[in-house]
Amino acid sequence: MAMLTVENLNVYYGMIHALKDVSFEVNQGEIVALIGANGAGKTTTLHTVSGMLPAKSGSVKFEGKEIIKTPGHQIVSLGMSHVPEGRRVFAGLSVYENLKMGAYTRKDKKEIADTLEMVYTRFPRLKERTRQLAGTLSGGEQQMLAMGRALMAHPKIILMDEPSMGLSPLFVSEIFKIIEEINKQGVTVLLVEQNAKKALSIANRAYVLETGKIVKEGNARDLLNDESIKKAYLGE
Ligand code: ATP
Repeated sequence: MAMLTVENLNVYYGMIHALKDVSFEVNQGEIVALIGANGAGKTTTLHTVSGMLPAKSGSVKFEGKEIIKTPGHQIVSLGMSHVPEGRRVFAGLSVYENLKMGAYTRKDKKEIADTLEMVYTRFPRLKERTRQLAGTLSGGEQQMLAMGRALMAHPKIILMDEPSMGLSPLFVSEIFKIIEEINKQGVTVLLVEQNAKKALSIANRAYVLETGKIVKEGNARDLLNDESIKKAYLGE
């Protein structure tokens, strides 16, 4: 059974039909990439899956349970965290306070403290800056904070929206390495990226979205060698 199964999702913004019968699945332990150009519907897909945007029709099943009408905060409790586009850290709160916010659905203080230690071990930069206001962090550091905050919920799956956006090449490589490491520790990843080359280099499988429709799917390695993908998305 797939961990996440999305079937025939249709989403509208007023008259705009943003997602057209979108179907895909993510198996436990995988990194699955959703690639596509500006406006293809990648962010809309993540927002709908994580309960932040209503669908007109379709189904989203998480571990076999229908969640299409489940509110976002309950979806977090089920084990799904979302790292939104543009990080959206709480600028006026410290790094530590942001991380604590990520654990808002959890109760066990000892477990939360253990996860915080794990996050600080994974992101030493955050540990050094624990009292710094999040709004004063660099873009890459804010991305790390957004990822750390998502990990504080102790998720089974993380949805990541454009983690490379606006980062220097060095930081992009670091962020992608961290995504791979998080995955190796057992967290399944659904990754939305415009940087198709990077995304396909760490993903197991990928889906290509074009104007709201899935037009291609396959093993990431095969897609990296696919002529039409190379031309359209890899700048080759
Ligand atoms: P990008 O990489 O540029 O963020 P994307 O693939 O994530 O693109 P979406 O943000 O999901 O694309 O947008 C899909 C389509 O829906 C676009 O045509 C966009 O203009 C439209 N859209 C997105 N949000 C809204 C909104 N709040 N109101 C109206 N239309 C919207």
